Amino acid sequence: MVQRLNFAHLPTPIEKLPRLSKFLGGPRLLVKRDDQTGLAFGGNKTRKLEFLVAEAQAQGAQMLISAGAIQSNHCRQTAAAAARFGFDCTLVLNGEMPTQPSANLLLDEMFGVEIVNVADRADRARILQETYEKAVRDGKKPYLVPYGGSSPVGALGYAFAMEELINQKPCEGSGDLQGCPDWIVFGTSSGGTHAGLTLGKRIFGYDGNILGISIDEDETWLKAHVSALASDASELLGERIEFTPDDVMATDAYCQAGYGVLTDAERESVKLFASYEGLLLDPVYTGRAAAGLIDLIREGFFKKDETVLFWHTGGQPALFADKYAAQL
Ligand SMILES: *Cc1c(COP(=O)(O)O)cnc(C)c1O
Repeated sequence: MVQRLNFAHLPTPIEKLPRLSKFLGGPRLLVKRDDQTGLAFGGNKTRKLEFLVAEAQAQGAQMLISAGAIQSNHCRQTAAAAARFGFDCTLVLNGEMPTQPSANLLLDEMFGVEIVNVADRADRARILQETYEKAVRDGKKPYLVPYGGSSPVGALGYAFAMEELINQKPCEGSGDLQGCPDWIVFGTSSGGTHAGLTLGKRIFGYDGNILGISIDEDETWLKAHVSALASDASELLGERIEFTPDDVMATDAYCQAGYGVLTDAERESVKLFASYEGLLLDPVYTGRAAAGLIDLIREGFFKKDETVLFWHTGGQPALFADKYAAQL
C-alpha cells in the first residue's frame, strides 16, 4: 500500500494564455499552475513530498536529508515539509555560499535546517552519503530524500497529477476532448515529474504527447532514466509496466549553456510571460522550459489548431536570488 499525506493545494488551476498565444501566433496555450501547490511558495516538489514524507513517517524517521544546488527549490520545499511535519533537516548544498543569503537559501535558514556546504558539485554525492551515515550512527533515524524527490515513490505524485488534469477536462467546450491538450510541455531534470506523467498517461489514459524540455541532462540519459523510473513507480501501484526510452519524449536542445546559466532565451521567456500574462516564471527551470516552448512554436513544431499545456513547475523564489536578479 502506498501512503500519502494530503497537504498540497489541489487541484491546481488551469488558466488560458490568450495574449501570449496571440503574440506568438501559435497554438492555443494553457498553463497548469503547479507553482501554486502550497507549501512555502509551492512548486512541483510538493506533490512528490506528499508521498515521500508519508514514507519517511511510515519508516519512523526523525530527520530528512537531501541535497541540491544553493538555490534548489527542491531543498527549500523539503525543508518546509520537515518543519511542518516535525522532522529535523539537513541539506547538502553545492555551490558558493553567499555572505548574505537570499531567496531559497534564505528560506532554508528560516525553516531551521542545518546546511552542509560543498564547494564542488562533484563531491556532493559522497558528502551526502557521509552525512546520511553519520546521522544513522548518531541515532537520528534519517530518511534520505533523493535528488529532486525523484524516487519511484516521489514520482507517484505526478502520476496522480495526470489523473487530476484529466478530471479537470481542460478542453471542455472546445469540441475536442479526445487527447486534449494535445501537448504537455514542461521542464525536466531529475526526471520524477516526467516519469510520473508518463506513468499517469498510461494508467489514466491520456492520449496527447508529453514533451520534457531538459534543463541540464542529455536526451539519451533522460529517456533511459525516466522510463526506468516510470517502470519502478508502476510497481508500487500493483503491477509493473515496462516502459522503454521510446515511450519518453524529451529534448536537450535548450540546455547547452549549462545548469542555472541565464541566456537571452531565458530572459526573453521570463519577460514575455510576465508582460503578456502577468505570470511569473523562474530563471532556472520554467524560464528555460518556456524558452524551449517559444522556440518550438516559432519553428512551427505545433499545429495552429492544437492546444499546448505548459505545466508550470514553480521555482519563482529564485527570481529574488541575488545571483539571478542581477542578470534579469
Ligand atoms: C525540480 C524542478 C523541476 C524539475 O523537476 P524534476 O522532477 O526534477 O525533473 C522543474 N521546475 C522546477 C521549478 C523545479 O524546482
